[in-house]
Amino acid sequence: MIRLIERELKRAVKAVLSPAIEAAGVNDRALSGPLADTGRWTILTYHRIIEHDDADPYRSGMSVRADRFRAQLEYIASRFDVRPVHEAAALFYGGRAGPKPLLSISFDDGYLDNLELAAPILSSVGLPASFYITVGGLDAPVPFWWDRLIHAVRTGTRREPIGATELGLPGPDHRWSTAPLARGDLMRALVAAIWQLPEAEVEPTVARIRAALGGDDAPGPTLPPRMDRNGVRALHALGFEIGAHAVNHVNLCLRDGDALRSEFADSRSELEAMLGVPVPGFAYPGGRLDAPVVECARALGFAYSLTTESGQNDRDADPMRLRRIGAPDAPMADFKRAFARALAREAAPAARSAA
Ligand SMILES: [Zn+2]
Repeated sequence: MIRLIERELKRAVKAVLSPAIEAAGVNDRALSGPLADTGRWTILTYHRIIEHDDADPYRSGMSVRADRFRAQLEYIASRFDVRPVHEAAALFYGGRAGPKPLLSISFDDGYLDNLELAAPILSSVGLPASFYITVGGLDAPVPFWWDRLIHAVRTGTRREPIGATELGLPGPDHRWSTAPLARGDLMRALVAAIWQLPEAEVEPTVARIRAALGGDDAPGPTLPPRMDRNGVRALHALGFEIGAHAVNHVNLCLRDGDALRSEFADSRSELEAMLGVPVPGFAYPGGRLDAPVVECARALGFAYSLTTESGQNDRDADPMRLRRIGAPDAPMADFKRAFARALAREAAPAARSAA
């Protein structure tokens, strides 16, 4: 409860201070140095673009509202040389970047809103972007497990606390409140726990959680659809780069040998066969990577691969381990502040969203 009050207080203070700080030009001054640095390449990460806040009630870190997305793009367009990731990589590592700093816009996972909401806004502002698609089940895609979990937490009718042991999660029997205001914390704890499970246990655990919470599968704004094959083709036909994001969106660190290689090679060959063009790029699912995962991407000849490690890239950056900055779902003043902080940071821990 104390934490909830603290969070609300912080939000109220920010709502008052943020516009004042922006009006005083503090954000623009903080950004002026990093933005002038043409020796660095910035890659932004998005997942979902939503029309209303209720599509992401717990602020999962994966959604940006469409009006905010447009404002962010307009800001970016005036200050950066915006290129698709594969093109920016060639310019950057080839020492051919222009007088403006390079920036790329990336989207992970393959949500239908990328085609229906993000693409029209990108086109109207005149910016390119690169979309990384998980290819498993593209013929009849079902929502991702974390979205089904968020939906179950959102729709669940249970009132009493829920325990880790009851849900089959390893470790101590932590108990979480299911009170409406505590459900965001419950969702974050469950998503983090499931990422650590062996692959075979993910689906049964999500089903167990849904049953324990009394959640449903009825369509709603918190159960976002994925693009199918035609959607990916349509996005590509609009001129956007398509990259691979594995076959199964699994934690690649839990795989090795052929089971690891196939997540890279099969997702690439599937997209290349669908689109009839080379697919040079990959984004590690959930930002989960270790040395064998990175070396697998390199050995299979990808031109580059994207992490969720936060920061910019300089010319010494390993192209198989490119850093990105997660775009916040925030008004411009807060976006600029978060952006300035991220740009100024040399190395920072991974900012992790659900996927
Ligand atoms: Zn992902």
